[in-house]
Amino acid sequence: MSEPLVIALSKGRILEDTLPLLAAAGIEPSEDISKSRKLIFDTNHDDVKFIVIRATDVPTYVERGVAHMGIAGKDVLMEHGAQDVYEVLDLNIATCRLMTAGIVGQKPPAGRMKVATKFVKTAKKYFAEQGRQVDIIKLYGGMELAPILGLADEIVDIVDTGGTLKANGLEERELIDHISSRLVVSRAAYKRFQNRIQPIVDQLAAAVK
Ligand code: AMP
Repeated sequence: MSEPLVIALSKGRILEDTLPLLAAAGIEPSEDISKSRKLIFDTNHDDVKFIVIRATDVPTYVERGVAHMGIAGKDVLMEHGAQDVYEVLDLNIATCRLMTAGIVGQKPPAGRMKVATKFVKTAKKYFAEQGRQVDIIKLYGGMELAPILGLADEIVDIVDTGGTLKANGLEERELIDHISSRLVVSRAAYKRFQNRIQPIVDQLAAAVK
């Protein structure tokens, strides 16, 4: 049997939107992923396997060619800055916005602004491009708390409905980018397995439409 193609899937909310798309493209896991603690899954294709991992780890597996393809949010891909991967398809799922936000009605400080985020590289790049000097404070979650307790003046975070910001007395400020999930392919894998990868890309493209 030929070497299986490994597709890295992001756990969590992206997965719920990803599996129906993959099914529409003719690839389905052999068991219910949500009911299993396994990390690697067979599919209805003998030569295709899924690995289900943290979204932030998907670019690492694909970049190193261990996973041949992967699905991850644009936010994660921007922050990781994956080098040896092709972003081949916008899957148009898990859409949201990467925004700056601050306390409702509160003006940004006159001097250097403190910004809390888990998107350190992306935030640095955004403010640097505007010639604004900021201090970035790395957090791993619950960013909304930072302005409330005075750890930061603003945050950079994902906004979908805006409900989380509102519940914490924060307001949207600047749009950094529109986000959706993307299909990425390892450059090395594409060279070796183009005849097997391209049909999957084409079927997913058709499913997106
Ligand atoms: P909301 O309250 O609907 O604006 O959702 C905001 C929170 O949900 C954010 O703090 C994110 O952590 C998370 N979130 C919403 N949509 C996404 C997405 N597409 N990808 C990753 N995280 C998301």
